[in-house]
Parts: sequence; C-alpha cells; structure tokens
Amino acid sequence: MPMPLRQSLRVGSYLMRQKLARNKKFPLLVELEPLFQCNLACSGCGKIQHPEHELRRRMPVEQAIAAIEESGAPMVSIAGGEPLIHPEIDTIAAELIKRKRFVYLCTNALLLEKKLEKFKPSPYFAWAVHIDGLRERHDASVERDGVFDKAVAAIRAAQARGFRVTTNTTFFTHDTPQTVERVLDFLNDELRVGPHAIGLDAGQINARVAELLQRLDLAKVAAANPFTLSGGEKRRLSVGTALATSPQALVLDEPTFGQDRRTFAELLRLLAEYRDQGGAIAFASHDELFVDAFADARLRLVGGRAT
Ligand code: SF4
Repeated sequence: MPMPLRQSLRVGSYLMRQKLARNKKFPLLVELEPLFQCNLACSGCGKIQHPEHELRRRMPVEQAIAAIEESGAPMVSIAGGEPLIHPEIDTIAAELIKRKRFVYLCTNALLLEKKLEKFKPSPYFAWAVHIDGLRERHDASVERDGVFDKAVAAIRAAQARGFRVTTNTTFFTHDTPQTVERVLDFLNDELRVGPHAIGLDAGQINARVAELLQRLDLAKVAAANPFTLSGGEKRRLSVGTALATSPQALVLDEPTFGQDRRTFAELLRLLAEYRDQGGAIAFASHDELFVDAFADARLRLVGGRAT
C-alpha cells in the first residue's frame, strides 16, 4: 500500500530540511521497543530469550517520548516483544501522534481486537500486523495453530473501525514466486487496496467493493485466493481493481478476454458508465465486437505499424 499523501509530504519536507542543513546522517524512522516480552514463543526469537527480570520491564511513557523527541525522526515503528502487552502502549502511541509523529504499531494481533477501543484512527497511525504467509505457513512460523485466523479477523475489525492497517511479512529462501504471489494477493485484497489508499472510509469501501463484486459476478469467489480464479474471473477482477478508485483515465489490455455473453455485457456496461462520467479509456483488444461497440477512435496495428 502506498504511503498516504500527508505522510509523503511531511517526510519529504523533513528530508529537504536535512539536505539544506547538509546533514549527512539523520534518523528517518526510529524503532522503539518498549518491552521484550511476547505472548508467542517462536523458536530462535532473540527478544524472548532475555532474562526474566528484563522481560518484566516496561519502558515508561516519558522515556519513550523523550527518546523519540531527541531523535527528531518523523516516523516511529513500535515493536517488541509484543507491544500490546505494555499497559500504557495506547498512551505512548497517543503522545507520539499528538507530536505529529507517524506511528506504526507492530503486533502479532493476538490482543488487537481486545485493545482496539483504546486507540483512535488517525492519519498519523497505522497498525503493522505480522503475517508470515498463508494459514499453514504463518501458524507453523509462530508455532501456534489459529494465530493466522485471529490476525486476519483482527485486521478486518481494525479496518471496519477506520484504522489504516499495514502488514509485514518475512519471505524465506525456500519461498517460490508462487508462494510470494499468493501471500501478496491475499494481503492486498485486490478490490479494497485502491479505495483504501485514496482515503475512502470503511463504509464507502464496503459499498464500492460490494457493488463491483456483484456486477462483475465475483461475489461467489470473494473469499477465494485470486490465484485460484479462472482466467475470465481474473480479468474481471483486474478491471474491477482499476475501476475501484474511479481514476481519470484507464489503460486496459484485452479487458474482455475469457468472458461469456453475460459477463461481457456487464463489463461493457460498467466501462460505459465510467466513460459517460468523464473517464478516459485506452485499450488494446483483438475483440472486434468490443471495439465496434465501444471505441470512439481506433488505431489498427499491422506489422508493427499503426494504420
Ligand atoms: S512474535 Fe515476534 S517477538 Fe513474539 S516470539 Fe515471535 S518472533 Fe519473538
């Protein structure tokens, strides 16, 4: 997911100030670890191997804020251990947000739904949920069954309350392009990612996604991994993903590929509505029927030349 515009501008102006001041080294993002304790026990984790008295320690709010103020960094990643175990983590986040720091609160999400009400959505705040793969891989990675499902449910609950949610994933040398693709497809939730990135609220996103799923005949596969969709379904999903943010212009490659009579007609209607509302479309197609029905102007490519 792209960085929101407000964040890009503030970080950009911070970088510019550093450049003007000829600072060669400066912090951009500080990782704050207000505790080492965790509610999971992954093998090889360096944090939970600290001695018991260290695991019981909690960084006081004042110390956390003072460290970030001293650093001057515009972005803070709060990690751990599991930060949501810290009894004052909501206060630390709120104080940093008050100081206009962009806060990413990293979590394994086991406590997220329970603690959500202590936090408020803000353009300066995002959850960063740890997801190391799809269900089987993630649960194996954190060595506990059910963590993936709990994390996904927590992500949805946070999004429904208007929070921005990002994820972090570790890919390993034994991952293949296909396993990486499946995880990213799942996390991007294709139709939602664009509307979320342009700042629509949860209600607007839900309405837009529901309409596109229904009109593109994708409702029945809404929960499926996009990797498993048929060619025609994938094509409709890609058109829907492009339409979801109502951009000013669309460039489409063979948008009607793999469609039957009914889905062809609905695609045509959706694109015509978009065009009639002022959207510009350029598309490449071998589908003469579609070109005849839709194009205002056409360029025919013969032997690599436009005629
Ligand atoms: S979730 Fe992270 S901090 Fe917790 S035990 Fe696993 S690796 Fe360590």
